[in-house]
Amino acid sequence: MSGILVFAEQREGKLNRVTYEAIVAGQRLSSELGLSLSVVLLGSGVDSIAQELATKKSNTVYLVNNEHLQNYTPDGFSLAMRQVVEALQPKYVLLAHTYLVRDFAPKFAASMGKSLIADCVGYKLEAGTLSLVRQIFQGKINADVSIQDSSPILISFQAGAFRGDDIEAGSAEIKALSVNLSAQEIRLQPQELFREAKQSVDLTQSKIIVSVGRGIKSQENIAVVERLATALEADIGASRPICDSGWLPMDRQIGSSGQTVAPKLYLAVGISGAIQHVVGMKNASTIVAINKDANAPIFDIADLGIVGDLFELVPALVEEIEKAKAEG
Ligand SMILES: Cc1cc2nc3c(=O)[nH]c(=O)nc-3n(C[C@H](O)[C@H](O)[C@H](O)COP(=O)(O)OP(=O)(O)OC[C@H]3O[C@@H](n4cnc5c(N)ncnc54)[C@H](O)[C@@H]3O)c2cc1C
Repeated sequence: MSGILVFAEQREGKLNRVTYEAIVAGQRLSSELGLSLSVVLLGSGVDSIAQELATKKSNTVYLVNNEHLQNYTPDGFSLAMRQVVEALQPKYVLLAHTYLVRDFAPKFAASMGKSLIADCVGYKLEAGTLSLVRQIFQGKINADVSIQDSSPILISFQAGAFRGDDIEAGSAEIKALSVNLSAQEIRLQPQELFREAKQSVDLTQSKIIVSVGRGIKSQENIAVVERLATALEADIGASRPICDSGWLPMDRQIGSSGQTVAPKLYLAVGISGAIQHVVGMKNASTIVAINKDANAPIFDIADLGIVGDLFELVPALVEEIEKAKAEG
């Protein structure tokens, strides 16, 4: 094959939509590098997902139906992926950097003696040479990773690195591919999937969100942004460190491991704009960012950016809003 192979993720018969982002990466690379593009789907009784994947532009959707892949296990998926890769000999294997991929891909890579270029946020193509972009130092620096390894080269892309709705439609051929797995090889017996308790706050319905990040410095200071939220009749959201610290409840967290929101107005206060946060709010109609660091990545996606100290700016903003309201 020596083309590009994208891993399509399903669980309990439902396609993880982040798969589309990995396919978008695959579609772009396949046209820029002139390589064929295939998608592989592992599971049992997942034919309808294969059909859905076949409506997207690729050459082939490989469907691996096996009873031992009915439930996800790291043993089953890494063993199956290794057999798929050995059979198809792709040059690149692309995966979305989900929890499931994080779980099995290191084992799969190690079993093939390969490294995994994990958690990439993009790629660069210079004179036909591919390098991958990874964020380091909590997203403050982008590092270009050059590839020294021989194929297959295993790459995972962070959620939000590509837009799933940029996917090109097409009509791919579905081909069955078999793998050999035995019950003894699967050491883990999956129990029922753990589900979070239903969220009490549904920020997906909010029209205005004032979201607070680590720039707020302490729990007592949350009141500063709460006053802004009240003035704007907005809901409060937060970056992960705020919720991890217990300064606001977990259901206020926005981002890859929190809620995905699309309000009319999103005010990011003291939030740096790490990709895991951005992925949860980039679809807001208008993004306003307040940050004292002019180089904070949040300004890359903000429609309006204010460089300054939130402890000066937010109270001033509240005062102006109150004044405007009083004037009617
Ligand atoms: C697997 C995984 C999942 C994750 N999921 C999420 C997620 O769902 N949501 C999420 O948000 N993060 C998530 N993260 C964490 C993410 O990588 C970042 O660490 C996090 O978003 C940073 O939060 P922050 O912007 O509040 O803090 P920081 O990155 O510390 O940024 C604080 C910002 O405040 C600014 N600041 C400081 N003082 C002031 C001031 N006085 N006035 C104005 N600005 C000021 C600083 O310049 C800085 O830009 C995840 C990480 C991992 C590894």
